[in-house]
Amino acid sequence: MLKKNSLRLAAALLTTLSGLTPALASPPQHHDQVPGYFRLKVGDLEVTALYDAAAVFQLDWLKGKKATMDGVAKTLQKDPHLLDAADQGFLVNTGKQLILVDAGAGTWYGGKAFGRLATSLRSAGYTPEQVDLVLVTHLHSDHVGGLTTHDGDRVFPNAEVYVAKAESDFWLSPEIAAKAPKEAQPFFESAQAIAAPYIKAGKWHTFSGSESIVDGMQIVPLPGHTPGHTGYEFSSKGQKILFWGDTVHAQRVQLKHPEITAVFDIDPAAAAARRNQLLPRLAGRICCFLAWVACTRKVKAIAGRQSH
Ligand SMILES: [Zn+2]
Repeated sequence: MLKKNSLRLAAALLTTLSGLTPALASPPQHHDQVPGYFRLKVGDLEVTALYDAAAVFQLDWLKGKKATMDGVAKTLQKDPHLLDAADQGFLVNTGKQLILVDAGAGTWYGGKAFGRLATSLRSAGYTPEQVDLVLVTHLHSDHVGGLTTHDGDRVFPNAEVYVAKAESDFWLSPEIAAKAPKEAQPFFESAQAIAAPYIKAGKWHTFSGSESIVDGMQIVPLPGHTPGHTGYEFSSKGQKILFWGDTVHAQRVQLKHPEITAVFDIDPAAAAARRNQLLPRLAGRICCFLAWVACTRKVKAIAGRQSH
């Protein structure tokens, strides 16, 4: 009897242990983080910031007077997060349309550290297929790479894309690309590849002035960083929000020193002039979202070339 009971106990233990076995196995690692979005109401508009990547701006990407830059370098030693930045796009739900401003890097810039915008969009409760319009601040790949896969598929298959004519003409020009320094040509190539499927589908649109694209949205030309760099200002019930692309790169430095430029500015003097015009107008009156550019040093060659 005792032997029989012992056998039953042993069998029960084996059953229990075998039941525990899966829990004792090493669990798979998860590499995703918390959903990357933040919502804000602007009048009747629902605005959702969509995270694409975090990054750090480099000190030598900023240009200014020696005394000013020495001060920035000194501050950076005490505050290592001074130049922290993020790449983002912004979703505006007007109640009638779903509008995306900039699309992140996709697979066209920054390797695996970038390209989370579409995931953030889904986490925020939307799908790429729902996006009606994409408004592009400029054609650097960290702002438009998310539009198109490397296989040439449109990530936002139902969206009409809008970009300033000066911007489209510059980056999509084979003639300008041919004259650009060799190291800058990948930027032209990526812009052309990213735009191609939308052009083919008749969904690539350019504007030259203050055309009305969306009710309650005003085009704000901000040439300097790139030839057709553009801001988009939405208004609702007396509230406004401006999406200003790469008007500022390192906000904690350039909001204090608008005269400091970035090596990625094709026309640094014009970029600084835009900040000096814009910032006093915005102060206290408008909500700004900064979509940081993570352009590479390769644009520096163009910037130098154009600034002379
Ligand atoms: Zn840029």
